[in-house]
Amino acid sequence: MSIESDCRLIWHPFTQHQTEPAPIPIERASGASLFTPEGREILDLISSWWTSIHGHAHPALNEALARQAATMEHVMFAGFTHPPAIKLAENLAALLPKELKRVFFSDNGSTAVEVALKLAFQYWKNQGEERRTRFIAFEGAYHGDTVGAMSVGRGSGFYKPFEDIMFSVELAPSPYTWELDFDIEEREEQALQGLRRRLQTYGDEVAALIVEPLVQGAGGMRMGRPEFLKAAAEMAREFGILLIFDEVAVGFGRTGTMFAFEQAGVTPDFLCLSKGLTAGYMPMSVTVTTSQVFKAFLDEGPGKMFTHGHSFTANPLACAVALRSLELFAEEKSLKKVARIEAAHRARLDDLHAHPLVAMPRVKGSILAFNLRHGGGDYKSRDSERLRDWFLNNGLNIRPLGDAVYLMPPYCITDEQLERAYAGIFAGLETL
Ligand SMILES: *Cc1c(COP(=O)(O)O)cnc(C)c1O
Repeated sequence: MSIESDCRLIWHPFTQHQTEPAPIPIERASGASLFTPEGREILDLISSWWTSIHGHAHPALNEALARQAATMEHVMFAGFTHPPAIKLAENLAALLPKELKRVFFSDNGSTAVEVALKLAFQYWKNQGEERRTRFIAFEGAYHGDTVGAMSVGRGSGFYKPFEDIMFSVELAPSPYTWELDFDIEEREEQALQGLRRRLQTYGDEVAALIVEPLVQGAGGMRMGRPEFLKAAAEMAREFGILLIFDEVAVGFGRTGTMFAFEQAGVTPDFLCLSKGLTAGYMPMSVTVTTSQVFKAFLDEGPGKMFTHGHSFTANPLACAVALRSLELFAEEKSLKKVARIEAAHRARLDDLHAHPLVAMPRVKGSILAFNLRHGGGDYKSRDSERLRDWFLNNGLNIRPLGDAVYLMPPYCITDEQLERAYAGIFAGLETL
C-alpha cells in the first residue's frame, strides 16, 4: 500500500486536495480505536462519521456478516425477498410506534431522504392534490448530498455551486440551545411563529415538513429541545401536511433514547434511518412509513406505484449485520452505555463553560459539543482545521464542523478513553 498511489488516484469526500494533508492510512480497527500500519492508535471520537455505534470490528457483527456471506450475498429485491430483510422489518417495527410499519430499503442516508421526499410528493399526486409540491425545511438542517437532499438541506450552507439545480424550499427558523441558555423559550416561540407564517402562506401547496429531531448534525451539532420538536410536529398536523423525521444521524441511541423523536412524544409519517442502522458495517438505509401512505400507492395498474429502487436494495449482508446490531442493544445494554457517556460529558460542562475559547457547550446523549469563541472572519475555519490536524497528530479523530467541536464516540468507549478525549480537547485549545 502506498500513500503516493492514493494521492495520485483517489478523490476523497469533502476534501480540498490542494491544501489538505495526505490522508492517514488505517490498517485495522478495534472498539473505539483505529490503528495505522505502524501501529499508531487514533481514537475514533466521532465514530467514523457517526456510523460505528458499537465500535469497530465487533466480534458478534463480524460473525453475523461472515455467516450471511456464506449463505447468500445478494438477491434483487423486486419480485424476490429474503429472511434477513423480513426479520429486520419485523424487528424495526417492534421498536417503532405502531403507525410506522412499512419499510422501504435503500443504500444510504441521502437516498433514505430522497425516498421520503418522493413518497411524500407522490402521495399527494396519487390523491389528486396536484398543488402540494412544496417542502418546508429548517435553517441549519443537513439531509445529505444528492440533489433532493441538498435542496431540503440548503439551510446548512454547504451547496453554493449547486444553487441552480436545487429545487426551492421554504426555510423555517430553527432555534438551538446549549447549557445555561436562558431565553430559549422566547426563541422557540418566535421560530414557531415563523413556521406558522410559512404554513399560512403556503399551507395547501405544502407536501411535507422535514426535520432532524433534537440535533442538527452536520449543520454544527445544533441541539433543539423536545418541546420545540413537539410543537413543530403538532403544527404540521394542524395544517394537514406530512412530517418527515430524518434520524439518519440521531437514530439508534445517539441522543439517549433509541430514536430521538421518542423524547417529544410525536410520530412522523416518514422516518429515515441509516448511519447506525448497520453499526457502521455496510451502506444501507430505511425509510419507514405508515399504512396510510402505503395505501395511497395501491391501484389496479402501475400508474400509482412508487417507481424507485436501487441495485442493492435490502442487501442481505447489510440486513444481517443490522439485525445483529439490534440484538447487541439488549445484550450490551447500549442505552445504559450512552447514559454513562452522557454523565461523563456533563461532568465536563463546568470546565468548558469556564474556558475563554469555548462558547455554548452542550450535551445530548452521547454527543458533546461546543463552539469556538474568537474574533471571526477567516480565522474560524483556519482555527478548526488547525485543531483537527492537531487532534489527529495527537491520536484523536475529532473533526470540527466549522466552528463546532464535538465528540460522538462509539458506545463501547471506556472511561479512560473518554478522559483522553477531554484532556486532548483542553490541550488542543491551548494551541490556538
Ligand atoms: C449523514 C446524514 C445524511 C446523509 O447520509 P449519507 O449516508 O451520508 O448519504 C442525511 N441526513 C442526516 C441527518 C445525516 O446526518
